[in-house]
Amino acid sequence: MVVLDGVNKRFGALHVLRDIDLTVARGEVVAVIGPSGSGKSTLCRTINRLETIDSGAITVDGRPLPEEGRELARLRAEVGMVFQSFNLFAHKTVLENVTLGQIKVRRTPREKAERTARALLDRVGVGGQADKYPAQLSGGQQQRVAIARALAMEPKVMLFDEPTSALDPEMVNEVLEVMRQLARDGMTMIVVTHEMGFARSAAHRVVFMADGRIVEQAPPARFFGSPRSERAKDFLSKVL
Ligand code: ATP
Ligand code: MG
Repeated sequence: MVVLDGVNKRFGALHVLRDIDLTVARGEVVAVIGPSGSGKSTLCRTINRLETIDSGAITVDGRPLPEEGRELARLRAEVGMVFQSFNLFAHKTVLENVTLGQIKVRRTPREKAERTARALLDRVGVGGQADKYPAQLSGGQQQRVAIARALAMEPKVMLFDEPTSALDPEMVNEVLEVMRQLARDGMTMIVVTHEMGFARSAAHRVVFMADGRIVEQAPPARFFGSPRSERAKDFLSKVL
């Protein structure tokens, strides 16, 4: 579903992604972990072309990433992204947040977009909040709206970049539970996370990055049970 082949990315002199090869199959849930600055966010951002790459190739569902225009808008719809900061439109209601992309990018008629939005808001447990503004919601509720907004575009893959790290602890679980349910429903997911419990229990594979490289990848039981690289051992000794 998502294939990165020899991807390199530099910010000036800083080489942030080094020869990244990564294949994520349909329905697979991949947890990306690693120290701060290792390139996890940049990796995510290259997949929906929020960042360009210097060399290598990326395909989503067999197609190379488009350069610009309507094709790029369609790619961004197909590759849903949920960030650490909630990124909802502050001056639009929850319902408008979830219908906007459907109407503008998908050209869905408003009535149908609203039906879809209400169903998705129910699914993530914020059905009662449709007419509120983001600031009136808790962080956990806002993040669930952000997930519903991405799902409204019928994405083929969902990228999550530390979706719970800006949340108060008591709200982390409600968001992780929505993500677990998505995983059970067969969504293809790439999840950058500090939540080792989530990586262990919900991911099919853990990808460990350090210094812009994929240092090690393995099923969670293997990775957490017997990490092979010194970098991974060191990292796990600090976070577990
Ligand atoms: P964290 O766990 O702290 O979120 P990360 O693994 O997501 O870290 P990235 O955000 O991908 O790391 O950053 C990788 C490196 O690239 C860092 O050294 C960062 O400072 C640098 N970097 C990221 N974005 C830019 C940018 N737009 N311009 C210049 N340098 C950048
Ligand atoms: Mg990051």
